[in-house]
Amino acid sequence: MPAKPFPELSESQTSDLKESLLQWTLANGLVMYPPNFQDFSANNAPITLFPTPLPKSSFQNAQDVQKLFNELYINLILKEKSWLIDILRKLSKFDADFTGKLFEVYEKAIEQSPNKKLIQPLSLGLFRSDYMVHDTTNEIKQIEFNTVSVSFGGLSTKVGELHTYLNKSGYYDSDYSYQYYDDEEIPISNSINELAQGLADANYYYNDETKSTKTVVLIVVQPGERNCFDQRHIEYALLKNHGIKTYRVTLEDVEAKTTVNDSKLYIKATMDEVSVVYYRSGYAPSDYEVNPEKTWAARLFLEKSKAIKSPSVLTQLSGAKKIQQILTKEEIIKQFLPDISETDLEKILSTFVAIYPLDDTPEGQTAKKLALEQPEKFVLKPQREGGGNNIYKENIPGFLKNIDEKEWGAYILMELIEPPKHKNKIIRNNDIYNEDIISELGIFGTILFNEDSGKILTNNNAGWLLRSKFSSSNEGGVAAGFGCVDNIYLYE
Ligand code: ADP
Ligand code: MG
Repeated sequence: MPAKPFPELSESQTSDLKESLLQWTLANGLVMYPPNFQDFSANNAPITLFPTPLPKSSFQNAQDVQKLFNELYINLILKEKSWLIDILRKLSKFDADFTGKLFEVYEKAIEQSPNKKLIQPLSLGLFRSDYMVHDTTNEIKQIEFNTVSVSFGGLSTKVGELHTYLNKSGYYDSDYSYQYYDDEEIPISNSINELAQGLADANYYYNDETKSTKTVVLIVVQPGERNCFDQRHIEYALLKNHGIKTYRVTLEDVEAKTTVNDSKLYIKATMDEVSVVYYRSGYAPSDYEVNPEKTWAARLFLEKSKAIKSPSVLTQLSGAKKIQQILTKEEIIKQFLPDISETDLEKILSTFVAIYPLDDTPEGQTAKKLALEQPEKFVLKPQREGGGNNIYKENIPGFLKNIDEKEWGAYILMELIEPPKHKNKIIRNNDIYNEDIISELGIFGTILFNEDSGKILTNNNAGWLLRSKFSSSNEGGVAAGFGCVDNIYLYE
């Protein structure tokens, strides 16, 4: 059955829906702080009025490959660490100020640890694999695999609950105020609970496989974080479902607020022992810019402690764009997932579009030609996270010509995915926009592993996120102000 059209509402119905929607967001924490906020006042997060259609099979495929992707990325560390380190060392030369600094933290942490070995072999990945659906084939195509500070797991659950509320209340039906979508057509992401579960798993293994509520989770956050409610939902679930307390600290305040004794990390004020350090900061150069010395020192200080890091520096670096390019090759996938079945291998491979290096290899030479001659088919990505860094289409040749060709190797050239457009409505603050949107599906996953034994202790799917943006804009960062949180409407 093709997708139902979006609800068509009269002006007064839209106005009723808007009032209910806004009150629901404020009542339930589907909110963000506005720019220059004061602690007591938050705005509705930018969201869609309706869920956006997504083929059921595309969604299923994205779910199916998540655990494989979790395992693939951590196997870089578990199975081929020296290979990974070689690549990261080269990347560090191109990007000394950021990748280089992170890599330095990794090396120093080992160097300064007893027996030149990290004291905590356990590591937690809270990952998100992002896709767009290819318009003509309905295949999901991977945009990127995120290994650090993945966001919107909190608000995603909330937007699903909101759409469900509006649907059940009859706001989507213009004639009889019936339910417009069946319940199972608009599922709710359980990402809040699942991500909290990931943190609780790490807490459990930190405490030698006991469910201790004595240890706490330390969340490293950005100063003045406007998206803190997204994080708070996970914290509340961690306390409610598992009895585990959380503390929030900025990188700059790590030194003042924490202390280490016998490698164990403690909150100074309470002497609570920290089982997990959960980064919602530290993924972009700007996170270290204000006070570089102090913030980089804080990262090293935490890395050396016995607390489980989510992620460890090495796990964070394994999500480098360059690594993603290398991992699109069949022989590499087989090398890192030696037991993979033919079906699973095909499933993973079907999620890749072409990604090229821009180096001196024969493949790189071909790619350089493509970048200059057919730029309209590509996006150029530097080694950066967090949005706003990519170079698109016709801007690529000029950009490349402006930098030394030796530096091109730091970039990857990726085929553009052409997702379908939908005429959903976006509400931001008090305004409703009705424009073509395109959507990006993110699948969350949690994985806990032991670097020493090579053992994977837990590996799970952890819900999803749909983010949408005007099809006229290239980038989709919600917090950055040009995207919104959406939810899926599954159709066959
Ligand atoms: P970042 O680490 O900054 O999030 P991404 O690789 O996710 O970098 O790219 C940012 C945005 O650019 C994506 O959210 C998506 O909207 C767009 N984008 C990235 N790669 C592609 C692609 N291959 N095709 C179409 N759009 C893309
Ligand atoms: Mg991204």
